[in-house]
Amino acid sequence: MHLQEIIRELNQFAPPIYQESYDNSRLLYNSTNQEIEAVLVCLDVTEKIVDEAIAQKAGLIISHHPLIFEGIKSLTGKNEVERSFVKAIKNDIAIFALHTNLDNMSHGVNAKIAEKLGITNPKILEPKRGVLKKLVVFVPKSKVKSLSEALWSAGAGSIGEYDLCSYRSEGIGTFRPSAQANPTLGVREELHSEAEFRLEVLVEQHCLSDVLKAMHANHPYEEVAYELYAIENEHQYIGSGMYGDYAEPIDAMKLLKQIKNTFGGMLRYTHLPTSKIQRVAWCGGSGSFLLNKAKAVGADLFLSSDFKYHQFFEADNEILIADIGHYENEQFTISLIVEYLRKKFPTFAVLLTENSTNPINYI
Ligand SMILES: [Zn+2]
Repeated sequence: MHLQEIIRELNQFAPPIYQESYDNSRLLYNSTNQEIEAVLVCLDVTEKIVDEAIAQKAGLIISHHPLIFEGIKSLTGKNEVERSFVKAIKNDIAIFALHTNLDNMSHGVNAKIAEKLGITNPKILEPKRGVLKKLVVFVPKSKVKSLSEALWSAGAGSIGEYDLCSYRSEGIGTFRPSAQANPTLGVREELHSEAEFRLEVLVEQHCLSDVLKAMHANHPYEEVAYELYAIENEHQYIGSGMYGDYAEPIDAMKLLKQIKNTFGGMLRYTHLPTSKIQRVAWCGGSGSFLLNKAKAVGADLFLSSDFKYHQFFEADNEILIADIGHYENEQFTISLIVEYLRKKFPTFAVLLTENSTNPINYI
């Protein structure tokens, strides 16, 4: 499999444009060998993981956490990050990370946690703003069908479970082609009126350039009259954290024990403000920044990791905080990526690491 083909699929799964500003989700090392025999999927790239990739003849390591997060000024092997990176380069193993872009997808890290919690139909806890655009294009009546179809197939007009969405209103467009123009309709240097549709479609940020390309390629006019608007609407399917309800309230202690059994590790929790839990909010990785959002949606329990001592006080008897550990709450992300790639490339070797990269032990 060609490296770029795998990357194209991963970028489809979690478009990099939805990563947080501090993140570094991308191809971190582009190997000279572009024909990949197998990929190895893990949470973190460590020396052990690179050794495993070498042993398995995996030409690409796909990790959730980016090996390089901030700038590197030298590569002297002074820490595990540098040693892992140098080893990957020497063995010509490409490295790719999909991190907060996968956190932010409604089918991403948090959806996998929902599955493990047994919660169906979860919603995004903090939907992203600024990732939706409105495209308005004016098109002669005879071409509205073909243009809409071209925009849809480039990804425009998809909202949740609905696709092929558009709005059309009829009107009259006027224009006067110059002496140098090459008009499809009308005559040079004469005012022309044309029965047109104002065609409106919603465009998600990641397909914007494809949609604009499709519009220009399929519009009959020499100069395409179109408007692109940034809209303030939240994207209901992209953002941080999730929340959802159990069909029936569950005894709080029983649920915490169940969660501990599912995720392993060590579970730290605050005082129980209520003995029954129905609404749960969660965030894979370090999610303490979402505590107030979890309270605002009326969650009984907020499940995440990396809470500091003083942050536990912020539960304030309004919500139960459960910190289950960073590695523990993201461990199933590996199988999420593996399942996706195996579905896309059924005959290709997509390997799930056999090494735990959790740096923390418990007694
Ligand atoms: Zn993480």
